Amino acid sequence: MIFRQLFEPLSSTYTYLIGCEETGQAILIDPVIVEVERDLAEIQRLGLKLAYSIDTHIHADHITAALALKKKVGSKIAVAAYDRLPCADLGIEEGTPFHVGSLTLQPLHTPGHTDGHFSYVFDDRVFTGDALLIDGCGRTDFQNGDADTLYKSVWEKLFRLPDECLVYPAHDYHDRRVSSILQEKKCNPRLGQERTPEQFKQIMDNLHLPYPKLIDFAVLGNKQCGVCPCDLPDDLAQYCGHMVAGLQG
Ligand code: FE
Repeated sequence: MIFRQLFEPLSSTYTYLIGCEETGQAILIDPVIVEVERDLAEIQRLGLKLAYSIDTHIHADHITAALALKKKVGSKIAVAAYDRLPCADLGIEEGTPFHVGSLTLQPLHTPGHTDGHFSYVFDDRVFTGDALLIDGCGRTDFQNGDADTLYKSVWEKLFRLPDECLVYPAHDYHDRRVSSILQEKKCNPRLGQERTPEQFKQIMDNLHLPYPKLIDFAVLGNKQCGVCPCDLPDDLAQYCGHMVAGLQG
């Protein structure tokens, strides 16, 4: 297995590159539009060809690189079938493994952060998106999020994976890179230990997080698989970087 964990600092997003040694095909999970060139350079350096990009969910804090990658190298776009995005090439469903070369990802529908959110089990690890972060989880107050639903997704799906299963989240804001199911079950202050659904809901209801500054633009753009909106304010232009001009046309 070829594996890289890549970091985008503006939104603190982790992008995961997985490569099949036999066929040279690669997958990018949660690629970010401002890092297209970096990701493609890394794929080329490793002697791979990008076959698919997959997003764990419709992001609100960055714009996906799915469409930009497709335009540049012809990679296909996989997203949750649940989200019914017309721009997708493949709709992911739980129970239907996703194969690329010798790589197999098992999709798990893990709603609660967003209703269409998926996690992906691959080999000895799981890509948890924003359903489960290291010592935390994604917020549940937008995009049809729901604390009860997220609690169920984590306890009934993710925490039923083997204890030693590695947890690779979509974000970390404190430079942590990887955890394990056992570690999150024991130490996650929101969801671990003996936390009840009621306690979790109370925690999530009392976070008092600010309105997400990119959400109105990002969700719209990501429903089109990664389009930078023409009306993006100047103070948010960095989220589209140099791709703005290219994607408007
Ligand atoms: Fe998110």
